[in-house]
Amino acid sequence: MMQTHGEVPAQETVDDASPDESRLQPLIQPWPLAGSIGKTDLGLILAGDGVYVKDALGRSLIDGPAGMWCVNVGHRHPSIADALRDQAMTLTYTSPWYTSNNPARELAQMLADRAPGDLKHVFLTTGGSSAVETALRLMQFYNNVRGRPQKKLIVSRQGAYHGSTYLSASLNGRPRDHDWMDGATELARKLTCPDPFRRPEGLSIDAFEDFLEDEFRTMIEKEGADRIGAFIAEPVQASGGVLIPTKAYLTRMQAVCREHDILFIADEVVTAFGRLGHIFASQAVFGVEPDMITFAKGVTSGYFPLGGVMVSARLFDELRRSNHPDAMFAHGLTYSSHPIGCAVAIRNIELLENGILDHARAIAPYFQERLKTLEDLALVGEVRGIGLMAGIECVADREHNNPLQIDIEVGKRIDRHCQDLGLLVRPLINMCVMSPPLVINKAQVDSVVEILRQGISKTMDDLR
Ligand code: PLP
Repeated sequence: MMQTHGEVPAQETVDDASPDESRLQPLIQPWPLAGSIGKTDLGLILAGDGVYVKDALGRSLIDGPAGMWCVNVGHRHPSIADALRDQAMTLTYTSPWYTSNNPARELAQMLADRAPGDLKHVFLTTGGSSAVETALRLMQFYNNVRGRPQKKLIVSRQGAYHGSTYLSASLNGRPRDHDWMDGATELARKLTCPDPFRRPEGLSIDAFEDFLEDEFRTMIEKEGADRIGAFIAEPVQASGGVLIPTKAYLTRMQAVCREHDILFIADEVVTAFGRLGHIFASQAVFGVEPDMITFAKGVTSGYFPLGGVMVSARLFDELRRSNHPDAMFAHGLTYSSHPIGCAVAIRNIELLENGILDHARAIAPYFQERLKTLEDLALVGEVRGIGLMAGIECVADREHNNPLQIDIEVGKRIDRHCQDLGLLVRPLINMCVMSPPLVINKAQVDSVVEILRQGISKTMDDLR
């Protein structure tokens, strides 16, 4: 059984801890509604330890989503805190343009040793959006240098989330992502979401896989392979609702990419660093060898903002041998290769490989089995998951799995009840997502499931 690291540090409770939508705050929360900018109905979290956080009402809550899929080794790990402090006291920062630093070099080697296939190079960024943006700009640069400036379209899928920078956000495909926002529509193309639960009526799973591959081939025929630069896919669509594709989907899509010289980018911002039991999941879990892998979140377990792109050695070989050795990849971030972030990532990977990955793999089946028992509740259409990520999808009627109306905000309702009972949930429109710290133990899994059962039951009472 994994240990937590001690007590959640005591914190003063705060007078204005209760959510109050009438008070305006200087802090803008991400994804605000126009009519609520500056208002907040969110709880205030003060401290964390292991799988627990403590809020300003003095409640101890299991951190069901591990922050945002990221606090993989758990909160308040002393060894990570030491690495962070030691690096800050050794070298706080040095420019990645005209200097290098030891933690960045060491981390790059560690990542190259662990990435699949020939992903032997890494460009370090500040998070997931900048990692995806870097991968896309690298694809553009690569095709420009190869004399194929027209090969720039990027294919993603409905249900996807790839970030909040302009180009990465253009690839998102969740409800409401594009209602009020602009994007690089001239570059982005979308395929059907490979969600088996919501596949077109009448299609078997095998026929659905055929349909998805055919759709991609048809798109290539229509747009022209010489115009499509990349296909980007989260191996499991995370914030789209933990959507796990059918078994051969990713390998089939990769084969189509190879046939047409389209780069396959696996967006592993969520699935890497232990969430699925491995440092990288693309090959270990899904059998694909991408041309690039983007990552962030779990690489530092959320202790420092860091991300990156693993890049195939073949791409760089081609660039080096091109007719344009002086072409510059004019792209970089002040905080690329940040020494503190890299030192944290190194310690984090060491911790993952010294027991936490084994633990995550061992407890995942228990976590999934126990959550699956919630399917007996009338509001629950499907509980699905893989590794230590799961989604509980609620439906209006179980016979046809019709979706609930968005404004019912069923996920938020369940979250509110669960918080009263000691569990933080990540609410999506019609569902709850679970991705706890990987150090969660069996008793804590039992608590998660029991609280969810009560929270969903109370929500069913509310909706009666
Ligand atoms: N890609 C995926 C799959 C994500 O889930 C996210 C964030 O949730 C991102 C990219 C963007 O990462 P960030 O929020 O660190 O910019």
